[in-house]
Amino acid sequence: MRIMENDPHDGLLAIDTHVDIPWPEGPSPFQDGPRCVDLPKLRQGRVGAVCFAAYIPQGSRDDAGHLAANARAWAMLEAITAMAPADGSGGQLATSAAGVAAAFAAGRPGIIPVIENGYAIGRNLEHLDAFAGMGIRYMTLTHNGHNEIADAAIALPTLGDKAEAYGGLSDFGQDVVARMNELGVLVDVSHASKKSMMQAASRSRTPVVATHSCMKTLCDHKRNLDDEQLEVLAATGGLAQVTAVSNFLRPKARAMDLTVEDIVDHVDYAVKRMGIDHVGIGTDFDGGGGVRGYMNTAQTPSLTAALARRGYGSEEIAKIWGKNFLRLMRRAEEVAAERKAAAD
Ligand SMILES: [Zn+2]
Repeated sequence: MRIMENDPHDGLLAIDTHVDIPWPEGPSPFQDGPRCVDLPKLRQGRVGAVCFAAYIPQGSRDDAGHLAANARAWAMLEAITAMAPADGSGGQLATSAAGVAAAFAAGRPGIIPVIENGYAIGRNLEHLDAFAGMGIRYMTLTHNGHNEIADAAIALPTLGDKAEAYGGLSDFGQDVVARMNELGVLVDVSHASKKSMMQAASRSRTPVVATHSCMKTLCDHKRNLDDEQLEVLAATGGLAQVTAVSNFLRPKARAMDLTVEDIVDHVDYAVKRMGIDHVGIGTDFDGGGGVRGYMNTAQTPSLTAALARRGYGSEEIAKIWGKNFLRLMRRAEEVAAERKAAAD
């Protein structure tokens, strides 16, 4: 009888820090369908928790645009929380580090609601409070195109964008970062310009996270992080979550040109520059992520196996796949609690 090798994915709490949902609402998340991520595939891929993004494309920065963005964010967050029905037949809502652990212990996929693009709050901090109240755990400051909060890495001339609107964070954006710290909502700097990212990292009392970005030295794309950004993230306790978007992994590559090995190349590079405590995975499945052999979340163990083949041990893999992000969630909660205690 052949002795089976240990499966490096066994018992692992894997957290994918960035996944989109189809919108307007697409195929049911309760059935194994055409989505990269649905509940059956999460179970099959033994994924512990996922940050599901209410993604708001950047539009006009006026009252009508902000109203529509806010309404879309609410509707999408309702669709995301509906993946965790009260009868326990789906996922389990996980709006804290303890909540993620509880979902994992219950054997149900943890559903972590998040917002991609601070455009969703327009110019109004009260909207941020309301979204935090419904459980969002991070907000991506911008998407492509500048908003009221910050400059984006990719300007949208079709919306009238110049290369920069503020030279980083706007005055409002500085207030937004401070309020996110108070609310325990993580600051996501993926999509933000380098200046926006650097300013957010230095101003934020909780370390910031790039939830789905790759390494610029390996692939020169505007959305990727350069060595100076990696250094600042590591020095401040932040995280770089490597994504599976093909043209962020290799210049002009298509999904079928690449494999999990290409993702591990970026993980390796980040670990060498930043250390094992500052690197993770955010696939951007259903938002453009996917490579050959890892086209959906059911195939998650193939990435884990590639990490093991590259020499990562079980504790290192556990950090990359979830412990680092959980630590950051916990830190955000602590900073919010300290602030609340000081105010009481
Ligand atoms: Zn994105």
